[in-house]
Amino acid sequence: MNNTDNQGFNTQLVHAGDYEDMYGSVIVPIYQASTFKFKNAQHGADCFAGRADGFIYTRIGNPTIDALENKLAQLEHGYRGIAFASGMAAVSTVYMALLGQGKHIVSTDAVYGPSRGILERDFSRFGVEYSFVNTAHLEEIEKAIRPQTVLLYIETPTNPTIEITDIAAVAQIAHKHNILVCVDNTFCSPYTQKPLDLGADIVLHSITKFINGHADIVGGAVIAKDPDVYKKLRQTMIYLGGNMDPHQAYLTSRGVKTLALRMDKSQESAMKIAQFLEQHPKIEWVKYPGLPSHPQHELAKKQMSGFGTMMSFEVKGGIQAGATLMDSVKLCTLAVSLGGVETLIQHPASMTHAGLSAEARHEAGITDGLVRFSVGIEECEDIITDLKQALDKV
Ligand SMILES: *Cc1c(COP(=O)(O)O)cnc(C)c1O
Repeated sequence: MNNTDNQGFNTQLVHAGDYEDMYGSVIVPIYQASTFKFKNAQHGADCFAGRADGFIYTRIGNPTIDALENKLAQLEHGYRGIAFASGMAAVSTVYMALLGQGKHIVSTDAVYGPSRGILERDFSRFGVEYSFVNTAHLEEIEKAIRPQTVLLYIETPTNPTIEITDIAAVAQIAHKHNILVCVDNTFCSPYTQKPLDLGADIVLHSITKFINGHADIVGGAVIAKDPDVYKKLRQTMIYLGGNMDPHQAYLTSRGVKTLALRMDKSQESAMKIAQFLEQHPKIEWVKYPGLPSHPQHELAKKQMSGFGTMMSFEVKGGIQAGATLMDSVKLCTLAVSLGGVETLIQHPASMTHAGLSAEARHEAGITDGLVRFSVGIEECEDIITDLKQALDKV
């Protein structure tokens, strides 16, 4: 396997985890096979016992998936990675591997909806207990910790409220109590934030978003810092069966090579768009980690190496104004998801969070005119021109 530990991020994106196949293929090929032939009985026995290198069965491991897992582990500075069929397969595997009857998890209150929903709806039936707190406020975490707490699960920045949690401080609190820390790093990607370097034990991704970046697959990954934690997660993945498919792994390996190029372009535009919106008379406020007006701008500068491409803003005029903006954009695509080459726009109050009561929405920080915006790699001027003409109609 190609080790690029001492090389720069772009070099790692292109080459980390690669290996040479028998024909010298420049890219890692798609091994679209469910099972692998043993050389003889001894080899089969050795593969199962972990004494020999070799693949057994694709749910357990596969060369195309393995290459991606190794690349992601190097990018996140972890021990090893595991790729999943979706981000939620990664989340549920982490929960399944680490939680249990009577065990307790502390999580970010504004965590990705299904990451919260599966605890409340499903894990609760197996006696798992949970507390959701605003992890941006460290004292709330301290208060929520119990003797049974085994996992602290955070997402930063949060969606769509763009609140930032201090990963290093959270890791310090957790480790004082022998609790593992898992960070959902989907909103940043390893290009702008490296949670394991900041003290986290596990980093998790919906690779559907920035890592693949091309809106053509759904996938997930976890990377562990410690071999024992990794083994636990791997074994649960193998039993639960949320493994990635070789074709997904191939597309992700292709998509991730340009992660830094895509992020550089999108981040540069995001800053200009945030400044444009902040001055627009029809916009109440803009929340973007790169703006000095963001309440945690200093923390963002400390733990992120870039401010990302995600922002939210409040259109004056409530739900109707938000919906009119959605109907008026032409270049920006009206769709959920994020982190792709195309600019996506979404209105939580009438879309992703429309199922909540107005009261629950406001409690979660989802105001009526809040718009979530994911900046793509189109020309910045074209995106601003589109927003300008759409805001004129509001
Ligand atoms: C999308 C997303 C997920 C879930 O990932 P899927 O690939 O859709 O299963 C988890 N966390 C965050 C922050 C996300 O944005």
